[in-house]
Amino acid sequence: MTGTSVLRVAIVGGGPSGFFAAEHLRKQHPALEVDLFDRLPTPYGLVRGGVAPDHQKIKAVTRVFDRIAADPAVRFLGNVTVGKDLTREDLRRHYHAVIYAVGANTDRHLGIPGETLAGSHAATDFVGWYNGHPDYADRSFDLSAERVAVVGMGNVAIDVVRILASTPEALSTTDIAAPALEALRTSRVREIWMLGRRGPVQAAFTNPELRELGEMADADVVVRPEEITPDPASEAALAVLEHRHTAERNIETLRAFAAKPRSGRRRTIHLRFLCSPLEIAGSGRVEQLVIGRNRLVPGSDGNLRAEATGERETLDVGLVFRSVGYLGTGVPGLPLDARKGIIPNDRGRVLENGAAAPGEYVAGWIKRGPTGVVGTNKPDAAETADLLLEDFEAGRLAAPAEPERAAVDRCLAGRGVRVVTWADWQRLDAIERTRGAALGRPRLKFTRRPEMFAALAS
Ligand code: NAP
Repeated sequence: MTGTSVLRVAIVGGGPSGFFAAEHLRKQHPALEVDLFDRLPTPYGLVRGGVAPDHQKIKAVTRVFDRIAADPAVRFLGNVTVGKDLTREDLRRHYHAVIYAVGANTDRHLGIPGETLAGSHAATDFVGWYNGHPDYADRSFDLSAERVAVVGMGNVAIDVVRILASTPEALSTTDIAAPALEALRTSRVREIWMLGRRGPVQAAFTNPELRELGEMADADVVVRPEEITPDPASEAALAVLEHRHTAERNIETLRAFAAKPRSGRRRTIHLRFLCSPLEIAGSGRVEQLVIGRNRLVPGSDGNLRAEATGERETLDVGLVFRSVGYLGTGVPGLPLDARKGIIPNDRGRVLENGAAAPGEYVAGWIKRGPTGVVGTNKPDAAETADLLLEDFEAGRLAAPAEPERAAVDRCLAGRGVRVVTWADWQRLDAIERTRGAALGRPRLKFTRRPEMFAALAS
């Protein structure tokens, strides 16, 4: 069906936004060919590499993505890095339009002394490692310290805390990467300090995630009543908060934690509010985290912000996980707002020098920043896809010079790229599931590219 009358779209990034964009385009415009590229040999983005292994239910969304990939109009081309194997110009030559759905692939920094000491890690690295993401397969995390700190009050921080506090028995029925399961089996971590710079009303985590901390088989949760009682300014803010019910339920849960006596479980999770990390100290590796107490004051944006009181505390910790948000780094050759970590855009149309670049779009975290849950990406991707179709119908998209699928394949083959097809992925998927079933696990992941290619060759 290839021909210039057929709308040809490249989607860069095989995570939720990429799949949802493909689905929406397909529903709205049947005369379509979509090529969905991913730099990894595997699809699903953060659903495979970010969602915690003990949250298998969230991963069930891959069944939706599988249905989208089964459509003959949609091709998956894994192991193709746009910016390296294919340039922005190559994509223009082969497609009417490109949707960049590349996510946010690095972490925000704290900007405090000692941040680069051994034992100070980005939570995103730890997440990638325990989820078997190939980029993190060579990382190691020394879990011999008894006390660790996790900085941040979002759902990623909660994931990290929960994985550190889980029993090996609980994790051994998940798809956690094998090296991580081994390291966690011998973990000596006993105290986990989760630190938020503002109060509970401003916490970024959601209700079920907070509640789960109270349901851990071998961990008690400790909170300080004085830190979870909202100050008058937070009480006032709560009344008009967009996510008021989430904040109210979180506070109820925190009160229940405060009221519950410790049961002598092996591990303790300390949730601390109104404290900021000031310095990570140690000779050669993390030994201490200096934190400063905060109060909340009105910020210039109308929200309450943390202000130091001058009071300090030192926590003796051997590991620090910095979980203060992901950051997008964009795509080589495309504009980037480095502060926000997004490609500048107007509702999804890429903006270059302030004007829309016809034929280039963004969806997901690289469009709006690292917010929301998997499902948030569905309306976000639909908004982008609708603008693309509007531009196509208005004749604003230039016809590609080489619109045949085979031309893209030839280009990649000529550059020595071993494209992983959907059929290849289905074989890898089946092997992972078979290896996992033998161990009573949903799958045993391949964590390195060479292992995946060896399995495909065998
Ligand atoms: P997040 O929700 O934006 O949370 C970031 C946290 O870091 C906030 O508590 C923030 O506090 C804090 N922070 C930022 N800068 C800081 C600093 N300099 N010092 C101390 N604290 C600082 O980000 P995330 O946890 O990385 O999650 C990303 C997205 O993925 C979120 O939408 C999240 O809900 C989603 N996610 C969902 C799940 C799930 O559904 N189970 C799991 C994982 C992730 P302030 O508010 O004070 O800035």
